[in-house]
Amino acid sequence: MSSFPVTRLRRFRRTSGLRGLVRETRLSLDDFVMPLFVGPEAFANDELPALGRHSVESVVEEADELQRLGVQTVILFGIPAEKDAEGSGAYDDDGVVQHALRALRERRPGMTLLTDVCLCEYTSHGHCGVLHGDDVDNDETLKLLARTAVSHVEAGADAVAPSDMMDGRVAAIRAALDDEGHESTPILAYSAKYASAFYGPFREAAESAPAFGDRRGYQMDPANVREALRECELDLEEGADMLMVKPALPCLDVIRAVREEFDAPLAAYNVSGEYAMLKAAAAKGWMDERQAAVESLTAIKRAGADVVVSYWTKELARWL
Ligand SMILES: [Zn+2]
Repeated sequence: MSSFPVTRLRRFRRTSGLRGLVRETRLSLDDFVMPLFVGPEAFANDELPALGRHSVESVVEEADELQRLGVQTVILFGIPAEKDAEGSGAYDDDGVVQHALRALRERRPGMTLLTDVCLCEYTSHGHCGVLHGDDVDNDETLKLLARTAVSHVEAGADAVAPSDMMDGRVAAIRAALDDEGHESTPILAYSAKYASAFYGPFREAAESAPAFGDRRGYQMDPANVREALRECELDLEEGADMLMVKPALPCLDVIRAVREEFDAPLAAYNVSGEYAMLKAAAAKGWMDERQAAVESLTAIKRAGADVVVSYWTKELARWL
């Protein structure tokens, strides 16, 4: 390669047309997933609009608007009217996500419906599984996660996304789905889910903060990346069809490492704290939200994510 003055990299930065011609990473709505919260009643969140809550009725209206804007995929989170120690609302055929799935399946048939599979929104103690003393019982929890996944698929989910971080959950869910004749339904595993401080606003929206302790006994230590590769490898061996890294911006190196190691489709979750900190800075007039959001989402794609779950998906549809 010849050097300056023969080579001048600024030549391709001169006009917007020339920059567009050599742009390496582009955002397409096809790759974005909008998270939606469904509970017994709807209420808006003025400061963080994507973290507002829908009723079964309003989630259908929201899906209608998303489809009109070009968003094709949503992931549902449920907040039940009542919580108990076993999180029974998660696998109740009459549960809030199951109701939302049936309504969306019927009225928005073209939409792709993913569901988050976990117990923390449904347990009275807020942990992601059933407790044995003060600890989450891994193997007992697997049965309930598998029941939850089957019940979501029977209500109309196109794919299930376990986010609990129990060991063996992908295999347990795969076996349960296959037993019920759902061998064609994919599993999107939250494979490398870190115990992150960036989940704060979500926990408020989903009312899922643990009543005692924290989730460091099952979610990953943010200091580790080789362990993330082991998690991904195990999930693929257990039958995961897509991997996920969560959160996204603090983990761009993890996304890149997983991308380089595995050929499976890879998702990244641009979490509520990533969304909230930018919204807050924009509200203060410290940053331009649109530019900073598009730059963040581009960075997540550039790091290697095929799919991005983001609270900006709806706004992005208007920006693109
Ligand atoms: Zn959970």
